[in-house]
Order: sequence, then structure tokens, then C-alpha cells
Amino acid sequence: MPPGFGNGTSSENNSLRHTSGTDKQLNGTMAPGFWIESGSRNGSFGNETSSKNNSLPHPSGPDEKQLNGTLAPGFRKESGSRNYSENDSLLNTSRPNVKQLNETLDPGFRKESGSRNDSSQGNRMPDENKLLDGLLAPGFDERSCASRYQSFLFRKTSLHKPSSYLLSKLRRYEDIHKRCGPHSKSYHKALKRLKSSHGSSGGCKYIVWIPANGLGNRMLSMAATFLYALLTNRVLLVNHKTDMANLFCEPFLNTSWLLPEDFPLRNHFGRSKHGYAHSFGSMLNKSITNTSMEPPEPYLDLNLALGGYDQLAFCDENQALLQKIPWLILLSDQYFVPSLFMIPSFNREISKLFPEKETVFYHLGHYLFHPSNQVWGLITRFYQAYLAKADERIGLQIRVYHDKTTPFQTVMDQILDCVLKEKLLPEVADTQEPAPPPSRNQTSKAILITSLYSKYYENMKNMYWTRPTVTGEVISVYQPSHEEYQHFGDNTHNMKAWADIYLLSLCDVLVTSTWSTFGYVAHGLAGLKPWIWRMGNKNPACQRAISMEPCCHFPLSYDCKTRIEVNAATLVPNTMHCEDRKNGLKLV
Ligand code: GDP
Repeated sequence: MPPGFGNGTSSENNSLRHTSGTDKQLNGTMAPGFWIESGSRNGSFGNETSSKNNSLPHPSGPDEKQLNGTLAPGFRKESGSRNYSENDSLLNTSRPNVKQLNETLDPGFRKESGSRNDSSQGNRMPDENKLLDGLLAPGFDERSCASRYQSFLFRKTSLHKPSSYLLSKLRRYEDIHKRCGPHSKSYHKALKRLKSSHGSSGGCKYIVWIPANGLGNRMLSMAATFLYALLTNRVLLVNHKTDMANLFCEPFLNTSWLLPEDFPLRNHFGRSKHGYAHSFGSMLNKSITNTSMEPPEPYLDLNLALGGYDQLAFCDENQALLQKIPWLILLSDQYFVPSLFMIPSFNREISKLFPEKETVFYHLGHYLFHPSNQVWGLITRFYQAYLAKADERIGLQIRVYHDKTTPFQTVMDQILDCVLKEKLLPEVADTQEPAPPPSRNQTSKAILITSLYSKYYENMKNMYWTRPTVTGEVISVYQPSHEEYQHFGDNTHNMKAWADIYLLSLCDVLVTSTWSTFGYVAHGLAGLKPWIWRMGNKNPACQRAISMEPCCHFPLSYDCKTRIEVNAATLVPNTMHCEDRKNGLKLV
């Protein structure tokens, strides 16, 4: 068996307890800050225990996050700090205020948020704003997915414009997806080919995405898989199952990206032995590398989560073999875009699509991931109630992988050291002198804390409540939810995770956590280079990311030409090791 292959479990192995997403449940888990102001509070949510079977294995053995059951495989605590330039510009253009929001939101939204009810303005937004500079196709039903055409109202005007080449590629992809998507004639033809191994596949090729690990991991790997689909003219179908239902809107007009329920290989997902028989690595292992040969099967499993032979899919010479296979079943919890970037033909295409290399996830994320109406409700109600009026929003993502063994005070000290030294937040004064009267030009900052736990929020709220700031700024602290542990197979839990990620992405400044894909998605969508706080008593407590791209924790580290292991960062320009993971790679 190739190293690391065979024990891989997709989240099929996780407990799939589906919890229906009622408002009552959602409210029951809102964190203190939310409740203090909204005036109601329920008990804590759910008794599910987290599944320890969730993590995918990695050849180098289990580590802390795996043992904890909440961290992606192969992570190691890494020392070593780098100082990066911090003069990159934040998105500094204006964002609409609450009044503007209320004036432009569509009627359904206004009713929900309880503000004005005049519907005449609903569809009058300038199209280029609403369509994110052409990234989004026009023509979707606005009420079935309010977030799609409203998201721009909550963000500053983007400085990162999509290239015209990307726009034309997306429009072409949409045509292919419509022609080949579920229930089309071509889809049925391709299914026939899948079942019988004979005949034509109707001119359509597919890549089926299988979920693994938490929501951050999943979103990163979906974005990477979509890029692969774009590059290879495949149709992306996603197996969202019940725990991802109601998270996202359909991204492609007049068709669906959801893998149909009756897809014949469903029972095969996650079955490692069967999977291996059909794996790309296995084919290579059996030396079926003669690219002129018709492949024996109409489908292949591509397990990119691990460091096994399947990683050789990232070698240019193997792409020809893959191209011939109508159905690829892809399992990955990684943002494997940097590995795609190492394939020369893809490298050229990616560079054309994204002349600004660090905007790959930013554009693909905004194209693909539109919160469902239910999640959008969580996001917009929270944003308008607590964040909209502040002069600046500071997002602190506090992801602690081993709560029981991680001293609370160490984390708190590290976070405070970071935000105070970097002047992201003001110090508090040690005084009981009466505060000066409120002045007109007093500025306010809202801190959004996201964490599985409420103690960091409690501590920070107390700090700014019990003492004045030395600058006179008004600081408010909020946390939307505290779930206590990562729930698996839980749709409502995932909705709150998605709402937290999105709310972070609406902040002006972000501090994210080492290794966290949850944080990567947030800063990737925000278009921000975050400060990454470092676990343990490290000095400095945090460092600024050099690129807003997410990190790929397990890039290809094999030179396909010389066939030797190499340092991944030396293979192509515009890549560097990640700030928070020495062997990881990101685009810059
Ligand atoms: P990573 O483990 O930090 O790389 O991020 P993932 O998103 O892949 O997995 C962590 C999962 O734990 C999330 O998807 C959530 O289910 C849960 N989780 C972790 N931190 C938070 C948080 O701050 N808020 C919420 N709502 N859920 C969280």
C-alpha cells in the first residue's frame, strides 16, 4: 500500500446525527455577549460527543490535533518566527452604513430585520457592485438566496478585481455545468458509462467532492477542487450530505452542484479497500502508466488528503491519464491549489486567471460560497445589532486544539500581547479617575471573538468593562456562539460555524489561529492578511501573514522531473512556506 493510504475515512465514518436547524436551537447556543443584549438565554446546546475517528491519517503518524480529534492530520507545533513587512494596505474604501443597508436591502430582508418595509429600492443596486465586478452571473432568484446579491453591502469596495479571463472562464464553466449537470441528458449518459464501463460518457467529465474534517477544511478543499474542475473542464459535484444541508446556496445558475442522492457510487465513499482498488496511486503502482491505454475503469479515486502515491496526480505527465477518466472521486481536506500551481500547464493558466496570485481563494470563495437564507439571517442580524455601528471591527479567532491541557492564561496573555503590541486594540488604564465626558470624535471598536469557548470573551469583556482605555476609545466585545467542542454530523453546528467564519470575514482587522483552516477561510474571504497568534509562550506573540491566501499543509514536495523529494517552496516562484507551518505552502 502506498504510504498513508488505506485507513482514510471520509466523514461518512463520523456520526451523522442530523439536528434540525430550528431557531430555538440556534438561540440556545448564542454566547453571553449576544444574550446580554438580546435579553434571553437558554441552556447549552447538544450533548453529542465529538468523534475521534474523524481525522484522516497521515504517514508521519498522529499528532496533537489528531489525538484531540479536532485538528487536521500531520500538524506539528513548529517553532521559528519570521518578521514580515506589515505595510500592506487593508481594504480601506468605504462600506455602507446601517441606514444605507436598510435602504437597499430587498423586501424580504427588511421584514426579517424589522426595519423599514418599503420595497421599491430592492433591485436598484448598480449591477457591478451587486455582481462583484462580474464575478457572479446575473439572473438568480434573489429571494431564494439573499446573500448572493447583498453581500457587497456588508463589505468595503474590493481593491481586488477579477480578471476578464477569469470571468469568461466562469461563464464557460456555467455553460458546461448546465449542459452536464445532474438530471441532464449528458449526465444520464455519463452514469450509464459509469455503470457499464462501456460506451461514450456524453462528452462530460466530472469531479465528485467528498467531505473530510471540519467546515474550514471542507471549504478550502471545495475551492481547490473547483479550480481543478475549471482547469480540466470537469463538472464539480459535491456530496454535502445532511450535515452540510442549508449552509450554501447553489453557485451555478439553473442547475445544481449537489451530487444526486441516487448516485451509484455513494456506498463506496469512504470504503478504503474498495477505494484503493480504484485509486490513482494504485494504477500507478501497477504501472498502468501508458497514457495511450484506455483506463480499465470509468472512475478513479483521488485521495489528496494524504502523502501517498495519489499526490503524483500533481505531476504534469500524469494529467494525461487523469484526463481520460470520466469520473474522478476526490477526497481531500486540503487547499491543494499550491500543488496545482506546480503543474506547468496549470501554472500558466492559473497565472492568467489570477494575475494577482494571492487572490485565488478570495475570488473563488466569493464566487462559490453564498450563505443560505438561514445562515444569512444569523450573519446579518448579528452584524447589524453589534458590529455595524463601530468605527472599526476587530476579529479575534481563538482556536484552541487542546482545551483541557492548554492553560487559559497563556492563551489570554498571548492574544493580549499580540493585539496590544501591534496596536490593534488600546491598553486599559490602571485608574479609577472619573472618565472624561463623552466627546463627539470618540471612536469605537467592536471586537468579534469566535471560539468554541466563552472564557476568552468573558475575560476580554471584563477587561474593557472594568477599566477605561488609555486612548478613550469605546470598546465593545461580542461572541456569536460557543459550542464547547466540535460536533460531527450536525447541521446546526455547521451553520453557526459558517456564520462565525463569515462574520470574521466582515471585520477590518483579523487575528487568526495557528494552523486553523477555519481562520484561513475567514481571512481569505475578507481579503486580509491576518496576524497569526502563536500557541505557547512564543515571542513575538503573533506575526503578520505575508499573503491572504490560505496555507496548504501538505503540498507536493516531490520533483516530478528528477523524482526526488524536495523543498516544495523551491519548485515554482510565487510560493512560500506558511507562517504557521514550516512544510506548508501558500501562493504569494
Ligand atoms: P480547523 O480545525 O481550525 O482547521 O477548522 P475546521 O473548520 O476544519 O474544523 C474545526 C471545527 O470546529 C469547525 O468547523 C467548527 O465545527 C468547530 N469550531 C472551531 N472553532 C469554532 C468557532 O470559533 N466557532 C464555531 N461556531 N465553531 C468552531
